[in-house]
Amino acid sequence: MSTLPFTLPTCDRPAAIRLEVYSPANGRLHGSLDAVVYACAEHAVEAVSAIEAAGLTAYRWSAPGVDINRGCGYAHVFAPGTPLSTAGGAR
Ligand SMILES: [Zn+2]
Repeated sequence: MSTLPFTLPTCDRPAAIRLEVYSPANGRLHGSLDAVVYACAEHAVEAVSAIEAAGLTAYRWSAPGVDINRGCGYAHVFAPGTPLSTAGGAR
């Protein structure tokens, strides 16, 4: 999967939050981490709504003081079946 099954709001602002996007797997709603997406404060609710409307679970990640350094609407989609523990090796 290289594209998201929903449309994110986008604008030119720096993102304020990062959302982890999970699909159901192994009987759990957050079974598979499929993507991370970024949104500014204004578009955060809209982004969560889009994710949940697609049947996915959004988990808001934030850490005060950490610079997210992405633009609103940026998304990184993980390849299906890629173990996250080994994902850092081949970038
Ligand atoms: Zn925005």
